[in-house]
Amino acid sequence: MATENNIIIDGKAIAAEVRSALKKHIASACVRPVLAVILVGENEASRIYVRNKEKAAAEVGIECRVLQFGENVSEKELFEVVQALNEDPAVNGIIIQQPLPEQLDTRCLVEAICPEKDVDGFGPMNLGRLQGGSPDAVVAATPKGVLRLIDSTGVELSGKHAVIIGRSNIVGKPLSSLLLNRDCTVTVTHSKTVGLKEIVCQADIVVAACGCPRLVKDDWVKDGAVVIDVGINRTENGKLCGDVDFDALCRKNVRITPVPGGVGPMTVAMLLENTWQAFQKQKKNI
Ligand code: NDP
Repeated sequence: MATENNIIIDGKAIAAEVRSALKKHIASACVRPVLAVILVGENEASRIYVRNKEKAAAEVGIECRVLQFGENVSEKELFEVVQALNEDPAVNGIIIQQPLPEQLDTRCLVEAICPEKDVDGFGPMNLGRLQGGSPDAVVAATPKGVLRLIDSTGVELSGKHAVIIGRSNIVGKPLSSLLLNRDCTVTVTHSKTVGLKEIVCQADIVVAACGCPRLVKDDWVKDGAVVIDVGINRTENGKLCGDVDFDALCRKNVRITPVPGGVGPMTVAMLLENTWQAFQKQKKNI
């Protein structure tokens, strides 16, 4: 149960506001932005994620074109598809749903997407721009959503100590750049970090993105901290849970995101926002 001091950061509501604003902007444009999604193989989770993106895109007025390929599609064929999408002026954003089957080189394929249409922000150009603090960087949806959630609390970031648990290329590393660019002191931790609890105890902002169910306990987090839980895990009885012990943390004076209903909805909303922003930039450059 939440106490008086505790505030649940409602990602679902904030994401709904983002989608509603996007819907209005897109309705005022003469053409619809187009997002192309490359989906390979039969991975059930990937299919569900793509269906959710399709549905959310349709709701705001973005046309989502899903290009499906069999498990054994060649890298050459996918390169040609990416190339054609890069050159198609009607397509504003391109994403490759991950994971790809093992025989395909994910990094090379992602790198083939032109930076202006790389709405996942996973390509080297956008990662480099982000690290350099360029306003032209397309920022990956999950870290972008995490920052939006932190900002929703009104906390002043400058000088704050942010501890990120997890150093993946899609969450931890880009988030560290985002927070550093906002003048946080950032500590990025990982599976080889010694004394994780003691490090997290010092944090004003904790972001857990490690895929370890309820790793972060209530005595790891100091009073007044902002806690963002990126993790999506399933317990033995099939229930969803995050990387933070939400029920225990809720009794403390913290601001915290739930799972589900925290970072997840923001990730989809930020992908749609990236697609809209890519569309706007491309129209300006015609
Ligand atoms: P990865 O598996 O790519 O990375 C996990 C990171 O956590 C690694 O850096 C790993 O360290 C670190 N780690 C693992 N165990 C520990 C530990 N015990 N202590 C400290 N660090 C640890 O995962 P992702 O970044 O892709 O995803 C992380 C979680 O976030 C998952 O639960 C995923 O499902 C979820 N997720 C949710 C999204 C959303 O929209 N809500 C979007 C993306 C991910 P090392 O590098 O040493 O291996």
